[in-house]
Amino acid sequence: MEQKILIQNARAIVTCDAKDQVYWDSDILIEGPKITAIGKGLEAEGAKVIDASGKFVYPGLINTHHHFFQTFVRNLITIDYPNMMVMDWIDKIYRIFQIIDNDVIYYSSLTAFADLIKHGCTCAFDHQYCYTKKTGKEPVDRQMEAAKLLGIRYHAGRGTNTLSREEGSSIPDNMLETTDEFLKDCERLISLYHDPNPFSMRQIVMAPCQPINCRQDTFTETVAMAREKGVRMHTHLGEGENEGIIARYGKRTLDWCQDIGFIGEDVWYAHNWEVLSEEYKVLAQAKTGVSHCPSPAILGGFPILDIKAMSEAGVLISLGCDGSATNDSSNLLDSLRTSYMMQAYHTKARGGCASAYDMLKVATINGAKTLGRLDLGSLEPEKAADLFMIDTETLELAGALHDPCNMLARVGQTGPVWMTMINGKVVYKDGELQGVDEKKLAAEGEAVCTKVIRQPNEAYKMFL
Ligand SMILES: [Zn+2]
Repeated sequence: MEQKILIQNARAIVTCDAKDQVYWDSDILIEGPKITAIGKGLEAEGAKVIDASGKFVYPGLINTHHHFFQTFVRNLITIDYPNMMVMDWIDKIYRIFQIIDNDVIYYSSLTAFADLIKHGCTCAFDHQYCYTKKTGKEPVDRQMEAAKLLGIRYHAGRGTNTLSREEGSSIPDNMLETTDEFLKDCERLISLYHDPNPFSMRQIVMAPCQPINCRQDTFTETVAMAREKGVRMHTHLGEGENEGIIARYGKRTLDWCQDIGFIGEDVWYAHNWEVLSEEYKVLAQAKTGVSHCPSPAILGGFPILDIKAMSEAGVLISLGCDGSATNDSSNLLDSLRTSYMMQAYHTKARGGCASAYDMLKVATINGAKTLGRLDLGSLEPEKAADLFMIDTETLELAGALHDPCNMLARVGQTGPVWMTMINGKVVYKDGELQGVDEKKLAAEGEAVCTKVIRQPNEAYKMFL
């Protein structure tokens, strides 16, 4: 028999469902991985009871763009992102990426997952394109281990770069793959890990890194294989590469994607700050999602998406931290508030902005739709029990409890959430990741970072 959990007497339950329902002083019944009832005075014999009095409950946040491996190159002041253009940044930072090994992949993924979980994220997508001589083809396998250890739902984007510097990319030769190598490994990963069923804990996404650094056949072959296997596709788009793509192909990146079929309901792009307002309808008609990553846009000084206008045009927008090398954090609650603040900043010029609650839905239900997960993103019966709780009985939240829907993006949350549940299991509660020795993992991760990244070596010295 499936384990039953009764979350009892929550101060408010923000569902993010189609009716935007909020339940006050109510309960949630969970059986196995899914929610079976929400309402007042629920009873369930033999259920484990979680006392949620004084807590606001929210659907788990969904992260639709990240690069976990960058977590160990955070806060390197020699990589001065605000003072660089994206392509110059890529040129510099790849010299560090090429020394990364699988221990860095594993521990930096654990670090990113921990930060995500502690700040309410229950399902994370990662765009893993760091394949070095030391990593071989193992990075996604190591990330799957890390996700399992912490209990987070993980969608792995198998990335690649296939165009050499000689042919116009900015990728060091020792980090290049051939299209065939990439496809072969995608096939292996899909057959090993991809679970398309409801409540799936792991999926594979085919995600060539970016059009400017790949051969065209990498993208066309991806389209063919992804549609044959029934997996989704992802890439970076509209993040400063348009000029280069026009020079190479005589058209803008979105037109190029359209022409080769790398667009559709099963595709989403990261960033898109170069996308023109007349291109919104192309995205909307194709039902192609956009992952908005506010931190890199702000740090890089790039235009902030007009989420209200794009949403009104029918474009599906979700939220991403993006890699820690252009964010320095994997805190998606922080990205949620940042994204709202940046929308608000442009209100006068744009004649309105997305509300704080709209932004919460961008980070929850829209993320679920983007990843093709109809079983996630809102709190309602038959959906997965992916949720987090905020303790409202803290002094810093006194006077801010008028409106639980708008609170997270508008007021923000100071510090980690009170509890995070994924697939019906409590993975974080009262300051503790469940079932792991966090101090030991942190020490091991720091030791790996010191040995591989921080130790003096030729690649690192270039940045001193
Ligand atoms: Zn990215």
